[in-house]
Amino acid sequence: MENKTLYLVIPCYNEESVLRETAKQLNKKMKAMILKNYISQNSKIMFVNDGSKDSTWNIIEDLNISDPIFIGLKLSRNEGHQNALLAGLMGSKKYADMVISLDADLQDDINVIENFVEEYYAGNDIVYGVRSKREKDTFFKRFTAESFYKFMKALGVDIVFNHADYRLMSKRALEALEQFKEVNLFLRGIVPLIGFKSSIVVYERNERFAGESKYPLKKMLCFAFDGITSFSVKPIRIITAIGGIIFIISTLFFIYSLIMKFLGRTVVGWTSIVCSIWMIGGIQLLCLGIIGEYIGKIYSEVKARPKYIIEKRLSENIISNNEKPKSTV
Ligand code: UDP
Ligand code: MG
Repeated sequence: MENKTLYLVIPCYNEESVLRETAKQLNKKMKAMILKNYISQNSKIMFVNDGSKDSTWNIIEDLNISDPIFIGLKLSRNEGHQNALLAGLMGSKKYADMVISLDADLQDDINVIENFVEEYYAGNDIVYGVRSKREKDTFFKRFTAESFYKFMKALGVDIVFNHADYRLMSKRALEALEQFKEVNLFLRGIVPLIGFKSSIVVYERNERFAGESKYPLKKMLCFAFDGITSFSVKPIRIITAIGGIIFIISTLFFIYSLIMKFLGRTVVGWTSIVCSIWMIGGIQLLCLGIIGEYIGKIYSEVKARPKYIIEKRLSENIISNNEKPKSTV
């Protein structure tokens, strides 16, 4: 079997304290795989510098000089993890047959890289790295992260439980990904939309061995909120539903207060105030929801996501126009 070219894509933001060690370990891993002829000699390790403020880029340049297996991509400013990752994926898809994305801090166990490649050779276009357990996370991180996955599922977003951005994608999966033109990019949600044959590799996530997390609570919340709002119009539906319910309640209340009024059991002015509060509140929410529905439609239109992705073409077998069929007498 002909071996294929593997690219590792690693977004880096202020990672000077971990980068050299990461590079050393990844290099060892890749060289071993190349030696076994498991992957091609053209395989590379690509670092994407996401506008770091420290010496990260200098380190990447040094690495590149010391060994051509290291290549680098420098973004003009800090664009965030997801965009840096995408830049790396798109930048490598021309040269690579498969790309694995991972973090610079080696929290993702690099010993399973071979398992990813194995799954690729077994015919999978996308291989998700799934964390077996989260023992090493703080309770808070574990709780928030797992709630997030559950919440996304509940909102009908198809994401892989406990999968972050440690994944392998084949060339054609990357080409399909390129067709997603949206600006608010949430890779974990989009990749499953690509389809194709996929599988998972289970691994244990380690602690960051140096430096600190670039995802403080604020960024994490923004990330979660982005993820939810760029995939689901359910929040709008919920508003519509609440509006509808309140409207029904208000109608019943209206009847009730009219009865009370005619039975003379009310204070003057009570009926009209109570009815208007409920009625108008309900109608307003309902209207907001309906307007929201239209905004939801606009929202999915402006995203202009591809409507389908072709997995296979059989046209190779069809005789093309300039090729005359042999006459069969
Ligand atoms: N990262 C990035 N740009 C950012 C923030 C983070 O490229 O604005 C990179 C970072 O260098 C690392 C990866 O994204 O390689 C994941 O970040 P981190 O390890 O800090 O997140 P955590 O593992 O704590 O969720
Ligand atoms: Mg990390």
